[in-house]
Amino acid sequence: MDLLREKTMRYDAPQRAKAAGIYPYFRAIESDQDTEVIINGKKVLMFGSNAYLGLTNHPKVIEASIAATKKYGTGMAGSRFLNGTLDIHLELERKLANFMDKEEAIVFPTGFMVNEGVLGCLTGRDDYILWDERDHASIIEGLRTSFSTKYKFRHNDMASLEKQLQRCNSHKVKLIVVDGVFSMEGDLANLPEIMKLAKKYNANIMVDEAHSLGVLGRKYNGKGVCDHFGLLNDVDLVMGTFSKSLASIGGFVAGDYPVINYLRHNARTNIFSASITPGATAAASAALDILKAEPERVKHLWELTHYTIKRFKDLGFELGPTETPIMPLYVRDNDKTFYITKLIFEEGIFVNPVVSPGVAPEDTLIRFALMATHSIEQVDYAIERIYKIFKKVGIL
Ligand code: PMP
Repeated sequence: MDLLREKTMRYDAPQRAKAAGIYPYFRAIESDQDTEVIINGKKVLMFGSNAYLGLTNHPKVIEASIAATKKYGTGMAGSRFLNGTLDIHLELERKLANFMDKEEAIVFPTGFMVNEGVLGCLTGRDDYILWDERDHASIIEGLRTSFSTKYKFRHNDMASLEKQLQRCNSHKVKLIVVDGVFSMEGDLANLPEIMKLAKKYNANIMVDEAHSLGVLGRKYNGKGVCDHFGLLNDVDLVMGTFSKSLASIGGFVAGDYPVINYLRHNARTNIFSASITPGATAAASAALDILKAEPERVKHLWELTHYTIKRFKDLGFELGPTETPIMPLYVRDNDKTFYITKLIFEEGIFVNPVVSPGVAPEDTLIRFALMATHSIEQVDYAIERIYKIFKKVGIL
């Protein structure tokens, strides 16, 4: 008897969803990836992307990627540590460190691997990691590989964080790690209060800027949530990804020289994995240049965001505390969330269902996300269709 086959055959949730015609995953895009994509030969409006600045098909980003591929080749046959470092990796690291106002930055294969690798090696057996219960899966993965004591605190709950800080040995490292913008709900970490507690208890802070890079920041600078609160200098470590606003793949972490130097030589997800391709490196670098040069993109994204949040709220949608282009439309039922996603897709609109175990079963939602390249007309069309569907299904 093949035990592995038997075990995996018991996992039949996808087959059941397929049989019911509501399976929403792995929908293949057959076109470029701006606000309108082709799926199954049909035009679909994209409201499920994390490319908040809409740079994935920007001619300058594509040209930079092609030029780097021509010059350096298609892949990197080794990790950054050994034969996998190019001059353009170092240049990108310098640019990122400058952009994030930090001494040093290091590029990893993905953002996921930043969180996993950093948390896995930075704190030791006697140290502590304090984490928000809604932190991203990659942070949770990092916690699993760390030998430190991990204390979870309730989402954005400062009393809960303080209680956990009080349990720590004051002479040991205490690293607080939070998503800057929470990826499903779109709300911000309460960094000003976290900072006060960090100072009071001599703790360090790491912020995940995956969904805030290219989105938040003063004067539409896109530096992220730490800059938004004027706290970039006080936060010890900021990590970000190239897979969202920066139109590529890869991740980075920036901070003081000794910390980044330690990570360069100890983070296993970077040392034992190949570095990002020349094309991906050049694309991220070109996208960062555009972000710096064109704050009007970020500004437009915010105009759209304020407009859309207001419209959804006026229509009675339950949106939670989002303040960003990530809009959770709560459904609070797994099957209904799948069914609504299907109905929305039939209207030519792509949104993402977020169901358990990604969120608690009573917190399931449709994740509606904006890009700077969306037009008001596209947003209006989507809102009207989604409103009719929520009404039909009895959510509104
Ligand atoms: N952190 C957060 C908050 C994320 O949402 C993601 C990606 N969904 C990551 C990290 C991982 O980034 P990457 O796609 O570069 O692996």
